[in-house]
Amino acid sequence: MVGDIGKPLPSWEEGMLDIHHINTGRGDSVFFILPDGTTMLVDASDGQANPLPAPFGMPTKPNNSRQAGEWIARYILRALQHFPEKKIDYAILSHFHGDHIGKVTADSKRAAQGDYALTGISEIPEYVPIGMIIDRNWPDYNYPAPIELDNYRQFLNWQIAHRGLVVEQFKPGHNDQVALLRNPAAYANFEIRNLIANGRVWTGKGTDTRELADLKHGQRLDENQCSIAFRLTYGKFDYFSGGDLDAKSRVLMPSSRTWQDVEPAAAMASGPVDALKANHHGSWDANCAEFLSLLQPRVIVVTSRADGHPATNTFQRMISKSLWPGPRDIFITNVTPSTHATTYNLDKAKCTQGHVVIRVDVGGATYRVYALDDNDEENRVIGVFGPYAAK
Ligand SMILES: [Zn+2]
Repeated sequence: MVGDIGKPLPSWEEGMLDIHHINTGRGDSVFFILPDGTTMLVDASDGQANPLPAPFGMPTKPNNSRQAGEWIARYILRALQHFPEKKIDYAILSHFHGDHIGKVTADSKRAAQGDYALTGISEIPEYVPIGMIIDRNWPDYNYPAPIELDNYRQFLNWQIAHRGLVVEQFKPGHNDQVALLRNPAAYANFEIRNLIANGRVWTGKGTDTRELADLKHGQRLDENQCSIAFRLTYGKFDYFSGGDLDAKSRVLMPSSRTWQDVEPAAAMASGPVDALKANHHGSWDANCAEFLSLLQPRVIVVTSRADGHPATNTFQRMISKSLWPGPRDIFITNVTPSTHATTYNLDKAKCTQGHVVIRVDVGGATYRVYALDDNDEENRVIGVFGPYAAK
């Protein structure tokens, strides 16, 4: 509520759904508290503390005294401060790029016990335990071709052996892989539907899927196009999350139709949603016209991490009433000076800096969006938007 401005975000309560888009300036990281208190993290930023050169030169938030993974863990511990058990039940990794799982550099910290570097996801359990990790290709990491994931692999092996970590491969089409763990019977109107991974997309019938790419004919999706996407539903409320999915060829030539158009395929499987985490940080090659017009989001959150997030044409698509009717509110976690100077109409965004929290009310009929100050760890509310009625 407006009375919350300047105060810390009020605590989550049983029956609410919280979606925290955590701004570290270093990648995607979204933390969920599901209605019965089950917790889920999607992606974890890169691991570095100091800014990279342009165009990836955003400052680490709140400051560069810690690596991004530690800042994320501390944010999660604050969000769970009233929970008797502070744990991440599920961590989903949308794909294997460094700004989502972590990136090893010469100055990466090392684990206190295991023989691996602390970066992104591998740093989180130093502070808050993870029960299950779900990624796109466990256990072989060979699609569409073998991938070098040595540090990630060593991290998983150590956590499996010493901390009881469970690792699973994301199962497109299923709606029971991420299940409520505390009190599922009270929330039969909650579901996470797995939509796509590695270009295998849900058909909308049962758990059936189909392949977009044909490896036998040399069709290889790239790492972004292999991203995991899911639709979260709570009562009338729906939220789409799709990592760094894109539709490059469709953006360049809107009339083209190719097997690489992972975005429209995922959106067709999903159907309209209330809220969207923009794909690929709002980059030029993602959130294509067809994707947006299928999802028709009322709220869009852009988790930016570089210059050009959101890209000027991508932002015009997001605000264009010719793609879908009705109002829409756009929230951006971070905007660099050069993006401010080049992405027109950014004054139409509701927020251009801060953590962005979607809080869905008990039952899922209404929700609000909170922008939080990301300069320190007080979680002070700097803007409250809504209430919105879920569609
Ligand atoms: Zn990314």
